[in-house]
Amino acid sequence: MTDTVVAATPPLDVARVRQDFPILQRTVRDKPLVYLDNSATTQRPESVIEAMANFYRTSNANVHRGVHLLSEEATDAYEGARNKVAAFLNADSPQSVIFTRNTTESVNLVAHAWARRHMREGDEILLTVMEHHSNLVPWQLLAQERGVKLKFLDIDDSGHLQLDNLSEVLNEHTRLVSLAHVSNTLGTANAIPTIACAAHSVGAKVFVDGAQGVPHGPVDVQALDCDFYAFSPHKALGPLGIGVLWGRRDVLEEMDPFLGGGEMIRDVTLERSTWAAVPHKFEAGTPSVADAVGLGASIDYLENLGMSAIRQHEVKINEYLLPRLRELPWLTIYGPEDPHDRCGLASFNDNQIHAHDLGTILDQHGVAVRAGHHCAKPLMRRLGVMATTRASFYVYNDLDDVDHLIDALIEARKVFGLAT
Ligand code: PMP
Repeated sequence: MTDTVVAATPPLDVARVRQDFPILQRTVRDKPLVYLDNSATTQRPESVIEAMANFYRTSNANVHRGVHLLSEEATDAYEGARNKVAAFLNADSPQSVIFTRNTTESVNLVAHAWARRHMREGDEILLTVMEHHSNLVPWQLLAQERGVKLKFLDIDDSGHLQLDNLSEVLNEHTRLVSLAHVSNTLGTANAIPTIACAAHSVGAKVFVDGAQGVPHGPVDVQALDCDFYAFSPHKALGPLGIGVLWGRRDVLEEMDPFLGGGEMIRDVTLERSTWAAVPHKFEAGTPSVADAVGLGASIDYLENLGMSAIRQHEVKINEYLLPRLRELPWLTIYGPEDPHDRCGLASFNDNQIHAHDLGTILDQHGVAVRAGHHCAKPLMRRLGVMATTRASFYVYNDLDDVDHLIDALIEARKVFGLAT
């Protein structure tokens, strides 16, 4: 995610974009749907839905193993999606793009196939206090099994990572630094190249959880200088059920497989097997072909809008959203104050109304938000709260959605007889 090319980008035509999303036509509790739960999952444009349906209608077959035309078409569609992902991330090669089920599986793949081979007792992994459980629990499991030590970068009061003591926390025992590109709770965009440079100087690898990075702006894995990058297409207009792991080719080549089974082998005897080349070594069994096709269509859609335009749009939303939230003195707002330092989301708490109650009342007004710990319980503890309410915006949201949110937040106070 970068702001460097943003200034010259033409703005999104949100009214036009909204027409591409059939679900936005529906009402919720007799109110127009104001969908602000995009960090959990986004909606899909007609082109993605249609690409998947069309695959099932016209080319459905299993991939890689058929000698018939439908199988060839399915294989081309599946591998074509891999090519699109590679170009989208500016990856060195499509072979370094692996399809998984989601970001969570991508983290687990690296924990099993890379870390279990390379890490032993006394080694260290550096994480941060803002990680989603997906980028925490797999490392805890490894730490318990191998005696690996987990260390954590803290945040400052503005919700940025504290990087001043980075060179002290990293040392010759650090084998891996694994962190979110963008926090799903604070919205903070982390300084990946700076952290990667420091990690590499002690010989550590860098894993970036891009679940909230990819949807919100241009991502160039080579410029980020990381070794692994994972994301979930369902958070960027793509289908549920498919995930991506990009890894540096040389690192992937020397990794063990993750799951064993069909498709990932070169040869099998009754006693042992040898492995297919990367990426197929990591894709055991029948893959989610239709989901890959949908992913390809979602990348086409995003690229047509322009990732810089999307980033610019979210900054515009933030510039309106943050001051409007600050007008409500009963709210505590978490995360960076500068609209440029976060993606298009805000987590907040009402000083009298529990986050879940607030979420339920907002829903009565057609405003869909998330309330809870956002799978980031350590961060909740760090902030000293049990839960927050999170409103997260995307390409089909505009400033009037902010107004709906603010009106509903004021209505919630009235429901509880509280001052506004
Ligand atoms: N990391 C971050 C930062 C996330 O926001 C999420 C999804 N909430 C995940 C990881 C996990 O994504 P998935 O459930 O698609 O594996």
